[in-house]
Amino acid sequence: EKKKCRVVVVGAGISGLSGARLLDGADVDVTVLEARSRVGGRTYTKRDQSYKYCDVGGSYVGPTQNKILRLSRELGVETYRINNTGDYVHFSRGKTLRFQSTWPAFKNPFAWLDINNTFRLMDKLLEQIPPESPWLCQYADEWDNKTMKEWFNSVCWTRTAKEFCQSFVLTNVSMEPGEVSMLWFLWYVRSCQGTKRIWEVENGGQERKFIGGSMQISEKMAEQLDERVILEEAVVLIEQSDDGAVVHTNTHKKLECDYVIVALSPSLYQRIQFSPPLPALRSQLIQRVPMGSTIKNSVFYKRAFWRDAGMNGFGTVIDEGEPVINVVDDCKPDGSFPALTGFILGDQARRLTVMTREERRRLTCECYAKVFKTDEALEALAYEENDWNAEEWSGGCYTSTYPTGVMTRFGKEIRKPLGRVYFAGTETAVKWSGYMDGAVEAGERAAREILCRIGDISESEIWQDDAPPEDVPELAFEETFWERNAPSVDGVIKMTSQTIIIVTAAVTIYKYSKFHSAWY
Ligand code: FAD
Repeated sequence: EKKKCRVVVVGAGISGLSGARLLDGADVDVTVLEARSRVGGRTYTKRDQSYKYCDVGGSYVGPTQNKILRLSRELGVETYRINNTGDYVHFSRGKTLRFQSTWPAFKNPFAWLDINNTFRLMDKLLEQIPPESPWLCQYADEWDNKTMKEWFNSVCWTRTAKEFCQSFVLTNVSMEPGEVSMLWFLWYVRSCQGTKRIWEVENGGQERKFIGGSMQISEKMAEQLDERVILEEAVVLIEQSDDGAVVHTNTHKKLECDYVIVALSPSLYQRIQFSPPLPALRSQLIQRVPMGSTIKNSVFYKRAFWRDAGMNGFGTVIDEGEPVINVVDDCKPDGSFPALTGFILGDQARRLTVMTREERRRLTCECYAKVFKTDEALEALAYEENDWNAEEWSGGCYTSTYPTGVMTRFGKEIRKPLGRVYFAGTETAVKWSGYMDGAVEAGERAAREILCRIGDISESEIWQDDAPPEDVPELAFEETFWERNAPSVDGVIKMTSQTIIIVTAAVTIYKYSKFHSAWY
């Protein structure tokens, strides 16, 4: 039977596979080449008797991530809600503070005002960035020449707010605030629908996980595509001409085709020779977008001691000496296999990447003993981890990041097709870029670009939105009166100094007039 055309997809992560699946359904002859000996890429579910399964890569999903939720549902992979009954903890300068919400309500009113003002302002600024073309933002040049650290330093007054903001950047993009462009970071948060949606558990990006692990999504797509997914074939050369393209692998396989989808992080394109070569600006872009630094681990315990002590297991750790930046309850949906997942990010990931697995396990357990205030945290039953910085075919995680000046100079190259070659991968998405949802958006969009090229669909059908699933609705976040109207620390200082000036002036005038009336 004659197929419409032949497409080779490079990379069997969620993006490449979802693109291949769409093409397969549209009667296109598709082959996926994957360098690793497994599918799933940056999602990786390890399996072992001692803990059943454990996601050491991408894992969480939530409202507004409608594409990954639709795809998983179609594949029969269900989600469950993460436990968030009990207190969140915030560990800083050796002290554990407990709060009822993911936004710490610090007792120091200045710290609270400072954090509230900074995040309100961030949401206001990011609204001005067009998601599909951030380089067109009115303030693009100014914001792209600043790091997030510089911006926080210019907005925050208190050390507590600066520290919380640092953990916000680290948690979301696994880079230090001084490493990333303000324009890029604000665009990233915008692509994830704002500061609350990206950060929250309930109604946010961390609301759910997949029962059985996220790698099943890629495994199930690969099962459907069957022998059309070929593992342990790293693409090393993509040649193209007017007649077609030839994709070469490191085992000297050559696949002839009409079109190619490259579904990798942009920095990994550097391992592939393109003939003709990538245009100059594209080639320069891919040298400038480093992957974040992440080690993710899970510690398994006999008992969920944090739950028993009234905590939900979520914690933000702000302490240079501690390895973990975020900790999350990782018990199975029925509460079995009690576990805590830890995120070692940015500079901590660089410090710990040169240590042994045993050292990382020990340091993580010692950290939890301090955060949750119990020596029970030292008694792990099992430990699992993945150092993404050391992964040859990822080069780091979660996603590509942009230092200053890159977005405005090279950003618009990100998903331009190159002759017969189309580009997917979560980095090319405009919604939830960097996430599994963005990976699906990008893979399906690249597949539809090819369908449009062969005249199967119209241009207006390339980009498609998904309605929210009924069980994961997109609820708006309600702001309290105080969140909306509280002044900034700056505002309080100005108000106070103005009041002092007015009162002093009034008192002086009053005294002066009394003095004069006494005289006359
Ligand atoms: P990838 O998964 O990177 O797929 C690319 C594939 O290409 C890989 O399989 C790779 O092996 C292969 N490849 C590379 N080079 C070649 C070559 N030359 N030839 C052939 N094949 C090649 N996302 C969320 O939504 N929620 C989360 O909670 C979350 N947390 C994360 C935590 C961690 C620790 C990590 C690592 C990631 C996290 N992410 C999360 C991000 C998410 O996993 C990714 O955005 C998503 O999986 C990317 O999919 P992709 O298909 O675009 O890229």
